[in-house]
Amino acid sequence: MLNCDLHCHSTCSDGLLSAADVARRAAANGVDMLALTDHDDLDGLPSARRAADELGMAFVNGVEISIEWEALQIHIVGLAFNSSDPVLNSGLAGVRSGRIERAQRMSIELAKVGIAGAFEGAMRYAANPNLISRAHFARYLVESGVCKDMRSVFESYLVPGRPGYVDHRWASLADSLAWIIGAGGVATVAHPGRYKLSRGDMRRFLGDFRDLGGQAIEVMSGSHTPEHVDLYGRLAREYGFLASRGSDFHGPGESYVDLGKLAPLPEGLKPVWLLF
Ligand code: AMP
Ligand code: MN
Ligand code: MN
Ligand code: MN
Repeated sequence: MLNCDLHCHSTCSDGLLSAADVARRAAANGVDMLALTDHDDLDGLPSARRAADELGMAFVNGVEISIEWEALQIHIVGLAFNSSDPVLNSGLAGVRSGRIERAQRMSIELAKVGIAGAFEGAMRYAANPNLISRAHFARYLVESGVCKDMRSVFESYLVPGRPGYVDHRWASLADSLAWIIGAGGVATVAHPGRYKLSRGDMRRFLGDFRDLGGQAIEVMSGSHTPEHVDLYGRLAREYGFLASRGSDFHGPGESYVDLGKLAPLPEGLKPVWLLF
């Protein structure tokens, strides 16, 4: 089976390596086909594609769009779209705008529990300030000794009900799918195992996603347990979804799984990359 990694990040969003270095690391790790999927931003695609071309590795355009569904933040990965599509680009610009303001509000919330200078601290990690994300805040909280690692940050801070969390208006599910499909791409549910949804709500979400033209879900993801793989493999078959595989690599030493190092898709699933 091809070694495909269709979910990862560069410094264009909250990854630690440049887009070209992500492609080089993927090729060195034996990846046959890579999609770079920065949050809400397409700026890394040309340089990642150039580096992939030089190394003879197949490259697919990608993006991870932040959406809200019933007040929950969910991520939809778009794959193999036309990156100059104007509607997709203006939609993503709308999702990006507001991140700075949200970051300022997060910093005010953290100051209330005695953590000073979080906005400036997080900004130092954000190579692309328009894409300031909770991951940049998390790095600052680790650096300043508030938390011992990224995982404990997201247990005690920056999540609903914890200091530093603020509500934000993201794209709708319908908009994100319309942008991806309108640009000729394939919409994919990112890391479904990560969402705090009951079984019944997850089924309703997958039904809405399918009704709006969604075609694939990540079965193999860096944040999935073996139980998640089993469950989402079964749901992919039941709903007729193609299956995707993506490490969600953010950087060496920070991510659980390196580029191209996930186990293969379970038998009997239709890989999404057969479309590309
Ligand atoms: P944002 O898009 O600003 O809401 O930030 C979300 C980002 O925070 C994700 O893309 C991850 O990079 C990071 N993140 C969220 N939850 C976790 C977690 N439990 N462990 C590690 N990183 C996380
Ligand atoms: Mn991220
Ligand atoms: Mn995500
Ligand atoms: Mn991701």
